[in-house]
Formats: sequence, structure tokens, C-alpha cells
Amino acid sequence: MCNEVSSAKELADRLLFKKRNVFEESSPERIQTMFEYAEGYKRFLDAAKTEREAVTKLIAMAEGAGYLPYTLGMKVEVGASYYYNNRGKNLFLFRIGSAPLESDGVRIMAAHIDSPRIDLKQVPLYEDSGMCFLKTHYYGGIKKYQWTAIPLALHGIVVLADGSEITVTVGEDESDPVFYINDLLPHLGAEQAQKPLGSAIPGEKLNILIGGLPYPDKDVDGKIKLNVLSILNEKYGITEEDFISAEISAVPAFKARDIGFDRAFIGAYGHDDRVCAYPIATALFDSKDTEHTVVVILADKEETGSDGNTGMSSIILKDILDSISLSLGADPIRVRAASMCLSADVNAAYDPNFADVYEIKNSAMISCGTTMSKYTGARGKSSTNDASAEFVGKIRRIFASHGVLWQTSELGKVDIGGGGTVAKFISAINIDTVDLGVPVISMHAPYEVVSKADLYSTYEAFVAFCK
Ligand code: MN
Ligand code: MN
Repeated sequence: MCNEVSSAKELADRLLFKKRNVFEESSPERIQTMFEYAEGYKRFLDAAKTEREAVTKLIAMAEGAGYLPYTLGMKVEVGASYYYNNRGKNLFLFRIGSAPLESDGVRIMAAHIDSPRIDLKQVPLYEDSGMCFLKTHYYGGIKKYQWTAIPLALHGIVVLADGSEITVTVGEDESDPVFYINDLLPHLGAEQAQKPLGSAIPGEKLNILIGGLPYPDKDVDGKIKLNVLSILNEKYGITEEDFISAEISAVPAFKARDIGFDRAFIGAYGHDDRVCAYPIATALFDSKDTEHTVVVILADKEETGSDGNTGMSSIILKDILDSISLSLGADPIRVRAASMCLSADVNAAYDPNFADVYEIKNSAMISCGTTMSKYTGARGKSSTNDASAEFVGKIRRIFASHGVLWQTSELGKVDIGGGGTVAKFISAINIDTVDLGVPVISMHAPYEVVSKADLYSTYEAFVAFCK
């Protein structure tokens, strides 16, 4: 009897697949390592709330690690590291390895650095009923009601009439003012409360409160707007027309903080997708000894469909790979065919509070490690890369040989919804690609939650991929 039990247990261990909680599998020292890694990530989050700030911060990190600025067509050297800044919003980091490019290809790790937010319109300023507001147009998939009644910061740039560029960041320093989108008090909100969540706050009501002091002159109309403009003009040299050539975004003014008595989780704005951008960049910096050529792509515009010349569907990806290949005398067509990519983006973590939209066997479980999605898409796998079994098998073997704890998932139940990533744009140029990333709770909310175990597992997975 005893033997039968133990052999059944042994058989079960050998045959059954089950997800493992990374914290549970880790020693206290290892958990301490995860927590220390999370501190660096939180500092990165607070310094990089927009794609432009992420590029600036990552270039500073790359330069600190000895990376050189790259220009298209430049001669590259084996063993050297480079960065290519695409218009301040999209960044390529790469190290040239000693392995022959045509047979070894390049190892690509791609994530996006834009996040859902609220952008200013081109003519945003107006005054109404004692308040000055900014008109906005939201960016990416947001639940609009979540963005009212929270402190907001303004981040961005303004190109003035003379061509000079002004950087604006207000609302992050403790001494700064913050900004705000009004909501209706419950006392008068009976009718609003009957509306579906998606229509209770219409897009045109996402107006940002920015002032209330009148300009001290009796003879002028629109005194509050004029007073705000005079403050902006004094501080930045801005006139109202300058908003036309500006990119200013409202983002939550919250800082990244630990969540829970045990500090297992991190709450922050913009985990999607900086929780993948940070691990792939640090994995590259920490993998100096690899013989492979490794390319990190930090893309813009994922949240609006990857369009434009800084998005992942831009031909710049192919241009960079071809430019590197040609510089080393390799045929770019053969290099791309031999390359492989982990497309790093977040996935929905299973949430027991909303269990009905998930299929638990194929959902990403929090703290069970970085999660691979063979396919994304909606309905009948529409608009997905869908990695081959052969390629998934290859990545499985890499992770197994380096002891990476990971899991597999898709986004919610079949026909409930779905989502896309940048994977399909990379595989479209003949590169084997699969999605891998961190499970997120409350994805796209102003304050999202991830597990420190999943953050660190993602870093370890990418370090293994570079080896
Ligand atoms: Mn994403
Ligand atoms: Mn997203």
C-alpha cells in the first residue's frame, strides 16, 4: 500500500503539469534578491512615466554601461555595445556578439514603453464658471471613470515658434501642484450611476482642472485662462498657439509603492509595459559574456496599434537589423531567418474577484512566474503571431536548462475579449517570435499591480535567453 502511494506520487510528479508559486519555491535569500531588484524597478518607474522619459532614462543607463550612440550605416565592432535613439520615443540597445550572424542570427527582446494616458488636444485651454481646464483626447484603452478624481501630473514637450524645445514635468515633485478631472458627487449622481461604466464618463468630459485665479485686470475677458497663460509664458515662454506643436500627457501623479503587509506586490502607473522594458534592458546590461548578438527594442505606440515611425510596425526595425548585418558583411536576409525574438508584454493575471472572464487552466497566475503566450488575438485567434510548436519547444529547453520558473497563459476566456502585442510585427519580417511577460492585476488602470516574483522571473528568463 505504502509503495503504491509513493509510486503514484512519483508518477504524478513526473506526468502532471502544474503551475508553481515562485515565492513558495524560493529561499528567503532568493526572495531578498527579488525584492532588491524590485527597488531598482520602482526607481525606473518613477523616472520614466512616458515613452520619452523612458528613452532618456534608458540611454543614461546604457551610457553608464559603456554603450555608444549608433547611426544607420555605421561600422559596428564585435564586442561593442550601441544604442539608437529613434526620435526620442523609440530606443534600440544592442551588443555585437562573436558568433557568426548568418548562422546564429540575433536574439531580440522587444517591449513597449508607452502606456495608456490622457493627451492634451491641440487647442486645449478654456475657461468656464470660475475654472480653467484643458481639453483632452485619451491615448490607449482606458476605463475613463478610473481617471477622474485622482491627482494627475503633466509630462511632455512643447516646441516653441522659434523651434526651441521645452520639457514640461509638473506634479511629480512633492512641492508641485497636481491636476484633476472632476467627477459628479453621488448626491447628484443617481442618473449617472444607472449608466454602463463605459459611458458614465464620456471622452469629452475628461477635462483637466488647471487653474482658478483671475488675471488682476477688470477690462479683459477670460481672466482665469489669461492668468494661467501668463504663468506658463513666464515659466516656459509658451503662448496658446504653442500647444499645437506640443505633446503633453496627463499621467497619474502616484509613485510606485509596495503593496501588502508582506510587500509581495508593486503598485504603479504604467507597469504595462515598463515591467517588461526594465527586465529586458537589465538582462542585456547583465549579459556581457554572451557570444550572441542581442538587440533590445523599446517601442512606442503599442497602446494605439504600433503605427507611426516610432511604433513596432515601422520599417526601422528591419533597417537596424540590416544595417548591423551589412556592417559585419553578413546577408541581412539570412540573418533575419536565423534570428529569434521574445516579445515582452504583460498579460492579464487571473483575478479571483473577476473569475468569470478567465479560464483558470490557461490563465496567468500571480507569482507563478513570467508567462508565455503562444498566441494572442481575439475571437478565432484573429490578428495573432501564434508561435510554432518548434519555437516554443526551443524556448522551453532554454528556460529548463537555466532553471527559469515560468508559466503559460492566454488572455481570458475564448470569445470574451482578447488583445494584441508587437509580436506579429517582428514575426512578419521572418523572425521566430513568441510572447513572454509579466501577469498584471488591473491592467490599464491608473494604478496597476504586479508581483515581485513575476518581475524577477521575467528578468531571469531574459538573462537565460541572452546566454
Ligand atoms: Mn502592453
Ligand atoms: Mn496595454
